[in-house]
Amino acid sequence: QAKEQGRNGYQIYDESMNAKALERIILESQLHKALKDNEFTVYYQPQVCARTGEVVGLEALVRWNSRELGIVEPGRFLALAEEIGLVIQIDQWMMREACRQHKAWIDAGFAPVTLALNISGQHFLKNDLLDTVTAVLGQTGLDPGLLELELTEGVLMAHTEKTVKTLKALKEMGVRLAIDDFGTGFSSLSYLKRFPLDVLKIDRTFINDITTDPDDAAITLATIEMAHTLKLQVIAEGVETTDQLEFLVSHGCDTYQGYLFSRPLPPEGIPPLLTGFSSLSSGA
Ligand code: C2E
Ligand code: MG
Ligand code: MG
Ligand code: MG
Repeated sequence: QAKEQGRNGYQIYDESMNAKALERIILESQLHKALKDNEFTVYYQPQVCARTGEVVGLEALVRWNSRELGIVEPGRFLALAEEIGLVIQIDQWMMREACRQHKAWIDAGFAPVTLALNISGQHFLKNDLLDTVTAVLGQTGLDPGLLELELTEGVLMAHTEKTVKTLKALKEMGVRLAIDDFGTGFSSLSYLKRFPLDVLKIDRTFINDITTDPDDAAITLATIEMAHTLKLQVIAEGVETTDQLEFLVSHGCDTYQGYLFSRPLPPEGIPPLLTGFSSLSSGA
């Protein structure tokens, strides 16, 4: 039918749908292969103390090092990985690999900093997240107090009963809990009180315009104040300019991440940024 209608737009629409579907099928089969062939890799973005400028944490961010496509960012494959149920395996691989690498840095003598991992909703709601965390900490020997799990508002709001249980159990293990992309999801603020959280990460869409948009500035300030009242630490995401940083520092933000300090880096880029590097590299 579309073919008969010729150049009236339907056919073009049809073809682009086919192209999309085809791309999806290719990507899907490549993703399965990527997991089998160990093509995923961890990049790390430093989290920096706003007062001292010291690196106090690292966020692990997945990258797909594809033979066909090069380094692929999660925006291009994570939604599909979620759809086809592969994201849990990716998260688990990330947890094992990032904890192993992090422990190796600490054993090499670098000052221990926090390691933050993104946990997908599916992974969080799966029954064995606690087992996975326990196993990985046991296998790697990483101090639970150095592990921080990032969850999103949507996940926290989805199944509150079970969520509270899981969060409390993680808390008892000594693991730190963060809420990622704060301010972008639907949520009731009351959960900030109900859940045993440690860190609130202000989404970068607010940080982007804090020096030019009074609304974003107001939201950011109110968030910092509220978080501190609730004894939560605040991390600002996506800090790209010194003006943004100065604004955040002068308003009491604890920690920041963003291109201003560093983009996410492959593992070899991290040691020079950690305290202890010069003494180690000079052989002390
Ligand atoms: P996120 O957890 O909010 O991570 C922050 C994202 O912002 C990262 O994108 C980071 O590269 C980017 N970013 C950092 N600083 C700046 C900046 O100054 N400007 C701008 N424009 N962007 C900045 P990335 O690595 O592409 O990750 C995107 C999202 O994918 C993450 O958002 C997270 O939700 C998800 N993700 C990443 N790794 C994993 C993982 O291992 N498991 C799961 N489940 N999700 C992951
Ligand atoms: Mg994150
Ligand atoms: Mg975020
Ligand atoms: Mg995000």
